[in-house]
Amino acid sequence: MAYVINQAAPPPMIIEQHQPQMIIEQAPPPMIIQQPQPQVIIEHPPPPVYVQAPPAMAVVNAPAPVAIQAPMKSLPAATFCRFCQQQVVTVTKPINGVLTWIVVGTLFFCLIWPFCLIPFCVSSCKDIKHTCPRCNNVLHTYKRV
Ligand SMILES: [Zn+2]
Repeated sequence: MAYVINQAAPPPMIIEQHQPQMIIEQAPPPMIIQQPQPQVIIEHPPPPVYVQAPPAMAVVNAPAPVAIQAPMKSLPAATFCRFCQQQVVTVTKPINGVLTWIVVGTLFFCLIWPFCLIPFCVSSCKDIKHTCPRCNNVLHTYKRV
């Protein structure tokens, strides 16, 4: 007699190993592109500078004499004497100059010697000396050569 023991076999041990899957998805690091930002430079206009004009100076002194410069040639000329600080008209005086001696020498060597002394008497061959009528200082000498 056999005993049949119908014994169900123990269920197979199913070991489900649920191992957590370690899925490491490493996402690529985010690309951070740093674009140079344009620098905004705000320039403030400089503050206005207020300059106070100096007060007008009262003119007390007499106006400076206006020097009238006429060309000093062979005629008397109105000018400002730097010695006596006056507005004067010059006194002219012919003096022997280079042109006088050139004409005298030319006449002498051309054997016109009796007439070679004439240039000493002709004022148009002489230089002109301008003097001040007040202080008698020489202001200018007009030279023909
Ligand atoms: Zn003078």
